[in-house]
Amino acid sequence: MVRYDAPLRDYTFLFHEVFQVTDISERLGYEDWDRDTIDMMLEEWGELMRTTWLPTNMDGDKFGCIYENGQVTMPPGFKDAWDLTTAGGWFAAAAKVEHGGMECPLFFRNAMDEFAISANMALSVVSALGLGVYDLLTTHGEAHLIDTYAEKVASGRWCGTMCLTEPHAGTDLGMIRTKAVSLDDGSYSLTGTKMFITSGEHDLSDNIIHMVLAKLPDAPEGSRGISLFLVPKYLPDEDNVNGISCSGIEEKMGLHGSPTCVLNFDASVGWLIGEANSGMSLMFEMMNRERLATGMMGLGLGEVAYQNSLDWCVERRQGRDLRGVKDLHEKADTILVHPDVRRMLLKMKANNEGIRALGTWIGTLLDEMHRGDEESKVHATALIALLTPVIKALGTDLGCETCSLAIQVMGGAGYCSEYGVEQFYRDVRIAPIWEGTNGIQALDLAGRKITQDFGRNLRSLMWPLVEFIEENRDDPAMARYTKPLHQSVRGLQQLTLLMVAEGMGNPHFLAAGATDYCTYFGNTMLAYMWARMARVSLDAKAAGIEDSFYDAKLRLADVFFAEILPDNVGLAAKVQAGHKHLMKFPEASF
Ligand SMILES: Cc1cc2nc3c(=O)[nH]c(=O)nc-3n(C[C@H](O)[C@H](O)[C@H](O)COP(=O)(O)OP(=O)(O)OC[C@H]3O[C@@H](n4cnc5c(N)ncnc54)[C@H](O)[C@@H]3O)c2cc1C
Repeated sequence: MVRYDAPLRDYTFLFHEVFQVTDISERLGYEDWDRDTIDMMLEEWGELMRTTWLPTNMDGDKFGCIYENGQVTMPPGFKDAWDLTTAGGWFAAAAKVEHGGMECPLFFRNAMDEFAISANMALSVVSALGLGVYDLLTTHGEAHLIDTYAEKVASGRWCGTMCLTEPHAGTDLGMIRTKAVSLDDGSYSLTGTKMFITSGEHDLSDNIIHMVLAKLPDAPEGSRGISLFLVPKYLPDEDNVNGISCSGIEEKMGLHGSPTCVLNFDASVGWLIGEANSGMSLMFEMMNRERLATGMMGLGLGEVAYQNSLDWCVERRQGRDLRGVKDLHEKADTILVHPDVRRMLLKMKANNEGIRALGTWIGTLLDEMHRGDEESKVHATALIALLTPVIKALGTDLGCETCSLAIQVMGGAGYCSEYGVEQFYRDVRIAPIWEGTNGIQALDLAGRKITQDFGRNLRSLMWPLVEFIEENRDDPAMARYTKPLHQSVRGLQQLTLLMVAEGMGNPHFLAAGATDYCTYFGNTMLAYMWARMARVSLDAKAAGIEDSFYDAKLRLADVFFAEILPDNVGLAAKVQAGHKHLMKFPEASF
């Protein structure tokens, strides 16, 4: 059995000391979300996840989902855990009050996502999809659709899906073939096959509301001709299936508790969401939150993997401390005495805490983007444009690295199912693939977001960074953080100029360096987060607050600046190396 304790102390630090979220809630009209409420709700949610979702997680992996005669049965315990969470009103946390929700700030919802993923990622994706459907529906759906579906989807009594992928169209959604034709009553008839549809069929809820990408007759070619439709499994007035069948679920490497379905739409009735042919832009609009949530998958699994591998390491005894025996009463010291073991554990911890800070910052920016005044909206929108692909790609890459290290640091036990950690590694591996592969995120950053609006996004980002460095320039205690941060920021500016200049003449140059550029970018953002966390910790110590938490934070900042940020030197060299060594390799010699 694995264990999980929600990282409440770290969130108290981030929410109230680093990002001052209660000022944000107050200013943005989240009146009910004061400090006590935030802390209490987060604690309750963490406890619910630990006590109800976590115990089902290993069964989800072991028994998986069962497909029989077009129906999918979820693993043991999943339905009870789902119903309990629905009954508590938790799924509606971010929904509007008029739909039974609590209108929580998005930074809070982001923390909820992390805990849910740690406890049971398979269940957490069902809830994330429901929220995605709810957002699309309530932002762009017609009133009759909102009246029929919003409350039930928000509560979790009805679940949702995103149906984009088709057998021949994954990244290149412009090639989809699912057709929609209009019917006399204003609805549409959809026909086509979607594959890899998460939670496309299951027994958690009475109805499943699919958001489906399809093409209208005479639509423009490619991605400009895609429309979005809401297609329910059961029609609202009748109790019969709406021409949707599930013809199978995938056998997968991990995430066995999540059914990945082939769905056939056969003259299924649906309703247009938003304007015709605007399906891709609507999806992209929603992607900001979804991609942040996907980045959190890396963190959620990275955190639970860290906690369990740490438990093993503090007990496991092998060898002696190289500088002399530590524990005379035992035949061996714990493996925590070994520098390499410490390197692995501390890298995991630094990955997690860095991404948690970045995710929290982005959560507050999403709130500013939705509710701030005009100036802060513009600023937050520019930052979100840049940081969304970064958190998706970096968060999930680091999640994979962290879960892999969790296995490595445990030795053979890490590889064996009994100890639970190998499941996290198999489960997290999907995160760099779905919601747009990480390669596509990197292209989005390097090819679109940095040049958008003549570089305004980047200027919006550089300004707070440079200001922070300036403010701390004269503080010797901060120099070990601000100096490498400054170097990294300057390096980022130079790499960006190179990418733009060379990339204009040769798109292969830009595309070849995009992934390394994106990681460099992400590491620089983490450096900024670590420097900010160090600033707060130093201030707390200077104020005489006795709490080992701050010492640990400062020491972990040292780990980040010594073990992780230096990777940027190699990353920059790889970006500068360009594309020729890749593109000149003859196809026949692969
Ligand atoms: C478990 C699971 C659950 C999923 N859930 C859903 C879901 O709920 N709804 C849904 O619609 N889809 C879902 N998907 C599909 C998922 O989003 C796609 O697998 C993903 O978008 C990649 O598409 P693909 O698999 O067709 O890979 P491909 O598009 O064939 O890509 C293969 C490789 O080529 C690269 N590549 C492709 N095009 C380019 C390019 N232009 N430039 C550079 N590199 C490129 C990719 O980065 C990748 O490395 C799911 C998939 C899985 C495995």
